[in-house]
Amino acid sequence: MNWRRVPLSAGLYLVATPIGSARDITLRALDILASADVIAAEDTRTARKLLDIHGVALDGRPLIAFHDHSGPGVVKGLVGRIAQGASIACVSEAGTPLIADPGYELALAVREAGLPLTAAPGPSAVVTALSLSGLPSDRFAFCGFLPSAQTQRRTEIASLRDVPFTLVFYESPKRVHESLDDLCEVLGGDRQAALCRELTKKFEEVATGTLRDLTVRFADQRVKGEIVLVVGRAGAEEVATGDVEAALLAALRTDRVKDAATMVSGAFGLPRKDVYQMALRLKDEGETE
Ligand code: SAM
Repeated sequence: MNWRRVPLSAGLYLVATPIGSARDITLRALDILASADVIAAEDTRTARKLLDIHGVALDGRPLIAFHDHSGPGVVKGLVGRIAQGASIACVSEAGTPLIADPGYELALAVREAGLPLTAAPGPSAVVTALSLSGLPSDRFAFCGFLPSAQTQRRTEIASLRDVPFTLVFYESPKRVHESLDDLCEVLGGDRQAALCRELTKKFEEVATGTLRDLTVRFADQRVKGEIVLVVGRAGAEEVATGDVEAALLAALRTDRVKDAATMVSGAFGLPRKDVYQMALRLKDEGETE
């Protein structure tokens, strides 16, 4: 099928693309990719493949490389084109541009030039992992990639120790064991965590448990593919069961089980499914009458 072209005004369009499954792309993203005067892509081969899959023809429109090493000249050139009336779609290799991917300098330059800037939102591994992790999603911190050198990595992890948000890290299969060891050592092995791998792809896996569980479980395994580590927030492991039950009992007086579990798991930074089970048990035991 050939994707239709639509009238597109001048500006920069930050277009999110799939993180695995090629069909995870929005209709608006395809409209923009089919219609922009220029497509600036982190990886032109990946972009061309995606366009082919969805029947988006280039029809002579330029598909140019734009990545972290492109330099200020390329940014200036693209801003100049927009100033002259061009619409430019910017795509990274996968997911949302600017999220551990190129696009920040370009978006900033367009903004500073007072030119139109918009986004076609879509997939990102950080949100996908968070939503599958079973960890509280009400407040989270995206921490990008941890440093590859151990001293810096440990320093960085230590700086996050008291952050009262769920922490999300991008990780490479080469370093995941070292990072798990360091997270376990610096944050303590009792924190809840999830190792999310190959999201939206054939071998998608979400392994959950404490940091210690995950470290032991993956110690002798080669972990393949793309990985996100999600780590529970500071203090969550020290919560006394009695306190959680008391909060649930109070909440169940006015709220449904589902809402009470959501509220209490968020307040204590505990996995929602565990708190939900606890709420069901309290209800069954008639403690809430
Ligand atoms: N811009 C992308 C986004 O919005 O998620 C991130 C790009 S960053 C260069 C690539 C990293 O994102 C990978 O090393 C991995 O940590 C994470 N990632 C991307 N796709 C993933 C997937 N399908 N499953 C798990 N992690 C993924």
